[in-house]
Amino acid sequence: MDYIHLCQPDGSKSCAACCGLYNYVENSREALQKRLRYRTGLFKEVREGNITLKQYRQILRHREDSRRIYKTIYSCEFVGFLDPSEQRAGCMLHPMQNNGDDLREIGFYGKDLCEGHFCPSYSKLINNEARIVIDVIDDWYLYGIVITDIDFVKTFFKIVQDRLGESLRPERLKGSTVLRDIFLRYFKLKESWPFRDPTRPRFGKYYFIGEDYDIDRIDYAALGADPSPYDAIFLSLSSFFKTKRDLDEATIILDGIIDEFCNKYR
Ligand code: SF4
Ligand code: SF4
Repeated sequence: MDYIHLCQPDGSKSCAACCGLYNYVENSREALQKRLRYRTGLFKEVREGNITLKQYRQILRHREDSRRIYKTIYSCEFVGFLDPSEQRAGCMLHPMQNNGDDLREIGFYGKDLCEGHFCPSYSKLINNEARIVIDVIDDWYLYGIVITDIDFVKTFFKIVQDRLGESLRPERLKGSTVLRDIFLRYFKLKESWPFRDPTRPRFGKYYFIGEDYDIDRIDYAALGADPSPYDAIFLSLSSFFKTKRDLDEATIILDGIIDEFCNKYR
């Protein structure tokens, strides 16, 4: 991928996934928004000299539900909103947030680790994939979930590109609200998927038990079905199918989005 800044691509969204943002047990949009809003207000008090950083941490320790899905990954208490309209979530210790002062050294990972970290999406996503995700999503919560789920992005691209016989062109998407809306419907399945596994903590295809994690598998034979061409997408959506009927309904949802996208793109 040519260099595209996936973390802060533009003024209308951002990602803070590797700072542990979604790793809280309470990680719904509403819960995270409330958490970040409070922190942002509290950090303003630090900047204005009304409380110290130590007090900031103490207050959050008492106030926040710090339970994490995967305990090995730290969830940093310095993720907040970077703009007054709450469109970008990110590091409140970053120099751009503090008149050039880089405060990241006081964070759990330290400045060097924070500054030098680039998640696998930087190397795995190719230009048109990254560009289209950025052009379609204007929403920090959804953007962070999607841009870090490489399978979820790549599998959709592969299926529609194979069917169309060409690579998706970001310019084509930019010029079409209809195409962008269909893409957005696909991305939003991350929040609205009716077959989401309710039985255990999940991030996409991963599930967690205490300090351990593993990749889930869908047992198609037990459902009396053949393996699905949408398998990677189902796993990214943390699916759990009780019956073949569930699987059929899930397939119909994806068929509908993919058929409509390909028809309109042509
Ligand atoms: S998960 Fe990747 S895109 Fe998101 S903030 Fe971290 S490095 Fe940036
Ligand atoms: S200090 Fe590091 S981990 Fe914490 S919010 Fe900033 S970049 Fe993320």
